[in-house]
Amino acid sequence: MTLSLYIHYPFCLKKCRYCAFNSVSDAPCSPDEYLAGLLTELEQRCEMPEKGSAAGTLYFGGGTPSLLEPSQVARIIEAAAKYYALAADAEITLECNPGAVTSGKLAAFRAAGVNRLSLGVQSFDDEFLAVLGRAHSAAETMGAFRTAREAGFDNIGIDLIHSLPGQSLAQWQRELSQACDLNPEHLSVYGLSIEEGTPFALLEEKGALLLPDEEESACMYELAAKVLAAHGYEQYEIANFARPGFRSRHNSGYWLRRSYLGFGAGAHSFLRRPEAGLRFSNTEKVEDYLALVGRGCLPTVESRNLTREEAMAECLFLGLRLTEGVSLEHFREEFSLSIQEAFGAACADLFAGGLLEMRDGFVRLTGKARILSNQVFVRFI
Ligand code: SF4
Repeated sequence: MTLSLYIHYPFCLKKCRYCAFNSVSDAPCSPDEYLAGLLTELEQRCEMPEKGSAAGTLYFGGGTPSLLEPSQVARIIEAAAKYYALAADAEITLECNPGAVTSGKLAAFRAAGVNRLSLGVQSFDDEFLAVLGRAHSAAETMGAFRTAREAGFDNIGIDLIHSLPGQSLAQWQRELSQACDLNPEHLSVYGLSIEEGTPFALLEEKGALLLPDEEESACMYELAAKVLAAHGYEQYEIANFARPGFRSRHNSGYWLRRSYLGFGAGAHSFLRRPEAGLRFSNTEKVEDYLALVGRGCLPTVESRNLTREEAMAECLFLGLRLTEGVSLEHFREEFSLSIQEAFGAACADLFAGGLLEMRDGFVRLTGKARILSNQVFVRFI
C-alpha cells in the first residue's frame, strides 16, 4: 500500500487578495523553528502508517514552500526517507512562487531531491497579477521557468486562474497560448473562486468586482480544454491536464482515496484504516502547532472515523473528478454492492439528465457535466 506525504509551509511573501488557504505573511517564528516542529511531527507520526506502507510521493505545499532553504527541504526529505520509507523513485514536488526563487536555489532544490516543481503562475499579465495581489511579475515567471529547466527540472506544472475580474475570453486565450509556449509537463486550470473572509469577498459584497458571469466562465473552461487538447495535453481530472506520463501522482492519490499523512499547521490526513477510513487534521495556528509538538503531543485537533455511507459518497465525488471515472468493479469490491444499489435514485436522475455515463466498466461525468460537477457531487452527499 502506497502512502503519500504532504508538508505544509504556511508562510508567504504577502497575502494574495483571493487566498483562503492557511497561510500568513507575518510569520510568528523563524523558518528554523517551524522546520524543527515539522521534523518533530514527522518522527511522532511514524507509528501511524498502515503496516507495510511506503511513501511514494512527498509534496511541499503552502503557503510558499519555496521560501524554505534547500538545506531545510533536504532535511525533510531525509526524515521522510527515515520514518516513512520514501521510495527511491518517489515523486517529490515543491510548490514554487516565481518571485521567491533564484537559479542557485532551484539547482539546490533539485540536488536535494526535488524532482517536480509546481509553479504558481496564475496569470501572465502584470495587471491581473496586481489585481490578484500576487508577489511576482510575468517576467519573473518566465525567468523562473527557464531557470528551472536549466537546473534540470524535467517535470514542471503550472497553475493558471481564469474568470478574473474584467477578464475577456480573448485575454484568457492569450494566457493559454503563453502557457503552451512554455511547454510545461502539467497544467492546473482553475476558475477564480471568491472565498469568505478574503479581500475579494468584501469587494464582491460591495459590487466592486466585475467578474465574468457563469456562461462566460464556462466558455473559458471549455476553451482551456480545447486549447490544451490541441497542444497534446490529456485532461485527466476536472481541472488538471498533463503530457502522457506526467499526471500528478500525489494529487491522483487524493482522488483515488489513497492514504496520506499531512504535516505542519492545518495539514489534513487520511488513512484507509479502519475499514471506511479515518480523516484528521492539525491545528491551523502556527503558534499552537509549535507549542503542541514542542510538548511532545500530536498537533491533531479533529479526527473522525468515516461511516461506510460517507466512504461510498467520497469514492464517487472524488473519483468522478477523474476523466476515467470510478471503476464499477473496484466500487463493488470495496463496498460489496454496486454503485446503482448504493445510489439508485441519484444515478437514475443523473444518467437520465445526461450528466453521468457508463462505459468500459467505469461510471464517469459526461463532457457537459464537467462544468456542472458540483451539481452532480451534491447528489451523493
Ligand atoms: S502565494 Fe498562495 S498561499 Fe500564499 S497568499 Fe498567495 S495564494 Fe495564498
